[in-house]
Amino acid sequence: MADPLDDYRKKRDFDATPEPTGGPADAAAPRAPVFVVHRHEARNLHYDLRLETGGVLRSWAVPKGFSYDPGDKRLAVQTEDHPLEYEHFHGRIPRGQYGAGTMQIWDRGRYDLVKVPDWPTAMQLGEVKIVLRGRRLRGEWHLVKTTQGKNTWLLFKSKDRYAGTSRDSALGVELGHAPESPFLAAPGQQRIGGTAGPFVDPGWLFEMEFIGQRALLQKRGDAIDVRGVPLPPAVAHGALRLRAESAVLDGVLVALDAAQRPCRESLARALAGDGHGVVFYAFDLLFWEDYDLRPLPLLDRKAALRAIVAPNPGVLYVDHVTGSGPQLLDVIAQAGLPAAVGKRATGAFVDGPSADWLRIPVGSNPAAAPRAAPTATRPPTARSRVRLTNLDKVWWPAEGYTKGDLLAYYDQIADVLLPHLRDRPVHLNRFPDGIDGKSFYQREAKDGTPDWVRTTPVPHDGGVTPHHVIDTREQLLYAINLGSIDLHPWLSRAATPDAPDFALLDLDPKEAPWPHVVRIARAAGKLLRGIGLRPLLKTSGKKGIHIVIPLQPGYSYDHSKMFTEAVARVLVRQLPSIATVERLPDARDGKVYLDFLQNRRSQTIVPPYSARPVRGAQVSAPLAWDELEDDDLHPSRFSIFNMPGRVSERGDLLRPLLEDRQDLLPAIEALQQVLREG
Ligand code: MN
Repeated sequence: MADPLDDYRKKRDFDATPEPTGGPADAAAPRAPVFVVHRHEARNLHYDLRLETGGVLRSWAVPKGFSYDPGDKRLAVQTEDHPLEYEHFHGRIPRGQYGAGTMQIWDRGRYDLVKVPDWPTAMQLGEVKIVLRGRRLRGEWHLVKTTQGKNTWLLFKSKDRYAGTSRDSALGVELGHAPESPFLAAPGQQRIGGTAGPFVDPGWLFEMEFIGQRALLQKRGDAIDVRGVPLPPAVAHGALRLRAESAVLDGVLVALDAAQRPCRESLARALAGDGHGVVFYAFDLLFWEDYDLRPLPLLDRKAALRAIVAPNPGVLYVDHVTGSGPQLLDVIAQAGLPAAVGKRATGAFVDGPSADWLRIPVGSNPAAAPRAAPTATRPPTARSRVRLTNLDKVWWPAEGYTKGDLLAYYDQIADVLLPHLRDRPVHLNRFPDGIDGKSFYQREAKDGTPDWVRTTPVPHDGGVTPHHVIDTREQLLYAINLGSIDLHPWLSRAATPDAPDFALLDLDPKEAPWPHVVRIARAAGKLLRGIGLRPLLKTSGKKGIHIVIPLQPGYSYDHSKMFTEAVARVLVRQLPSIATVERLPDARDGKVYLDFLQNRRSQTIVPPYSARPVRGAQVSAPLAWDELEDDDLHPSRFSIFNMPGRVSERGDLLRPLLEDRQDLLPAIEALQQVLREG
């Protein structure tokens, strides 16, 4: 019999690629087979689904990846079988090798073949049904062979409890580092560790306090249990509709009185009887399927909880506001309820009383009450110097996003953003009434700037003016609290204002279509790599793309401008119908403007991760070059709400901008050669 890995081995040079060769298969182990999905950034980004069978991983390349919408049928091309060791393979396949590019493990777990007795039958029928048990992929999926070509299949979600809209993972949130775990029968219980007056902090979220009985709701398959009380019928019904086989929810059993207010007496009466009228308000998710969620930040646990609670009257999700306790307290007072609960958004679960959970009674005096001290992640003295104001003010009127949402975003993203701001003069663009209101552009730091906010003297026109510099989280939040939405740092540092440390080519489309921007960016990448550089790119956050090249020390703005101008002119020559260097907007003729003039002293560029004052709270998103091949790529895909998740998955794709110092001189020579060859 032919070795099923012949094809696999024939395509590869194992002296050059780090991929496994595939040893002899082990005797079949008594366990469910494994599946793995690789995110493969090869020439074209795609996802490789691999299913263990017969001692190998049978593989399909899925260009568009997975969708939980059963109507969304995705093309899947069967490829050669891979060795079992490939389950653990990730890394970079070198250029020139088969499948060159990066291979990341996107999901992994066990699966069962269902509805047919065995694989040979399934392949013969051209119909493979599988139940996947991974972090992102859950439930039943269907592979159907088409008549178009011999390896062409369609992959889609079956209609089950996990099916839904077009998300690409069961929860729509990162399970991140939640460890695999057997069912948590006794997870413990986090409790309120103190009382506080109303306070405002973007690192905290605030919920209503419900009057009722604290309880854990446990689901294992169809077995539902509320620990300590007889199971109320509405709760049982709601729990069966959760998007989970197994789950442990923390929350409160509540019954309403005649005035529709939560009422202890009504609850006691109902629980002593048949439990009619009792519902469960869930505020935390401790366990889901095979994962212990307790180490995750509370915000992630709540996002996962929200994702598994299907609409039903018996099990309800307790929503929260982020950042502003006083705002929620007003609402609570009007509703005649006693208190809010403030919880640290990034807090992991703690068994027992915890300073991360604070009760805030209605009517408590902010001055007299002991203030919550958000201390665990940063020094309170540093935090207390920024007084955050007007958190409820709407910054994005069409969407209702607030200044508090923006502050919470910058607080979350600060660790990757700050290295790109540090030491650079920065101009502020302030929107005191949100993105549709008046704005003013501020180059100089004003009198009365607090002394802990860094400024740097910048000489110009014979005088010297102070400019802001943002080095720390609190300086960042200070600038955002002033009404800044995006930030405008220089391309050079405060100590060396005439020496840029990167060169910038700005692809500015105005009215030109997005696909043209992408085409030019691809051409620019090819050109720059061809002359020996390692360019990086990001969306501008509006409609364009920024291409940047970090420079060795010693170059002036004259160098970077001359160089990017030459690059721009080569690109215009390559793509004359869609690219232009015409400065006057009216003369651009619907083409993408290749702007190299920002390579000048006192010019600025928004840093990666900066939010932008445009619809949807879009942000400037670092991209991998292969993402330009993705049909779905669009600047609107990146917002203040999903960028933190992307960063935790991908890291800072623009990190080389801070580290990879490149030499422009050989590139300039090589570019001259390109120009001569015409
Ligand atoms: Mn592949």
